[in-house]
Amino acid sequence: MAQRVQGTEDLYGGYMRAWQHMTDVARELFGAYGFDAIETPALEQVDTFVHGIGESTDVVRKEMFRVVSGALFDDLLAKGSEAGLKARQRMAMRPEGTAGVVRAAVEHTFVPQGGAPAKLWYAEAMFRGERPQKGRLRQFHQVGLEWLGASDPAADAECIIVLMEYFKRLGFDPSKLRLTINSMGDSACRPAYREAVRSFILDHADEMCDDCIERAELNPLRAFDCKNDHCREVMEAAPKVDEALCDDCRAHYEQVKRYLDEAGIAYVEDPTLVRGLDYYTRTVFEVEVEGAGVGAIGGGGRYDGLMELEGGKPTPGIGFAVGFERIYLALQSLCIDLAGDEPTCVYVACMPEQRAAGFSATLALRQAGVRTEADYQGRSLKSQFKQANKLGARLCVVLGSDEVAAGVATVRDMQTHDQVQVPMAELAAYVAERA
Ligand code: AMP
Repeated sequence: MAQRVQGTEDLYGGYMRAWQHMTDVARELFGAYGFDAIETPALEQVDTFVHGIGESTDVVRKEMFRVVSGALFDDLLAKGSEAGLKARQRMAMRPEGTAGVVRAAVEHTFVPQGGAPAKLWYAEAMFRGERPQKGRLRQFHQVGLEWLGASDPAADAECIIVLMEYFKRLGFDPSKLRLTINSMGDSACRPAYREAVRSFILDHADEMCDDCIERAELNPLRAFDCKNDHCREVMEAAPKVDEALCDDCRAHYEQVKRYLDEAGIAYVEDPTLVRGLDYYTRTVFEVEVEGAGVGAIGGGGRYDGLMELEGGKPTPGIGFAVGFERIYLALQSLCIDLAGDEPTCVYVACMPEQRAAGFSATLALRQAGVRTEADYQGRSLKSQFKQANKLGARLCVVLGSDEVAAGVATVRDMQTHDQVQVPMAELAAYVAERA
């Protein structure tokens, strides 16, 4: 039997309805904040992620699913190296949404010189070659938004405000959410800070794991996130970014916090919050659900250097992404149902000889926007009624020979069993009003 790939899931039934609900809520809420939907390709050139996310990140080094066309695959295996491939032949499945949106913004000049910011949101599958476990998949879904061209700290605050409002609308009790924020500095102050952390790690090399020692050179700030408890203990004494911020970054961060205070958003400051991707500057944030045990359900931050890294002109940006699967698990742990009820329908039941009349009635109901089911397996009238009950039909339209001869249909309320006869010409309007 064919099986799905490990770490991937089929979305169907209530799970699919939950995902659709998440995208519907996003469309409405983000639309109110002026964001338009975008969908970028699931496949991008590897360079889009290398430039944007950073060569040294785990996402780029270990987790990206790399893709070559079938025609090149054998050649690649034979050569044992991708050295001969052109940039356009080296592709990857997107591990996150921001780099692709920013690549598109550069390619289509979404933010022209002196133009208004571009505000975009997406709901897409992402792919990361991680070890599958609860809440950590190889294909998962994110809803996210990107706000390009806005440097004002109000944009940082509004991004966080809309994120928290989104969680609220999905059913989370805001008091159960833990929002953590930090500023990671910018190109003026981060290099010196990075160097200070690098030196600290090297000074404590005998106490730290091999990964952290490697991180010292590649991406020292990631040592704050090491899965090894002892490394994290050692890192408690490492220099913290809040002491290293330049005046501009500090002023920006203070203003973001003032706006959050004014909006009544509760947050915890964590100077060790660094996030996994290289492109972040200044404000970063992450949200967890207390007691859910699924890790972060969303996070984001400012990325003022990313447009340039993708070949555009300097343009500030900020955004976030939330993970559908983790949100679903977290809501489940709180006994909140994201899927909602199964949709109800109207069932058209008819005697086999009245099939043509049944077909016309079904067509008319669907054209009036009513979710309509009928029998396509030659069942008896009795078993059609059973089927209608099974499907949770609210109304059943019955077409027997007497009804058809009289040009009417019997409409039965499946709960009360009340029946009325309705002229065929009025059936669609009658049912649409009551279904
Ligand atoms: P990140 O870009 O890593 O901050 O991811 C943003 C959000 O996507 C996280 O907060 C998670 O909710 C979700 N997420 C990230 N990686 C995975 C994964 N491998 N499986 C499921 N959800 C994920």
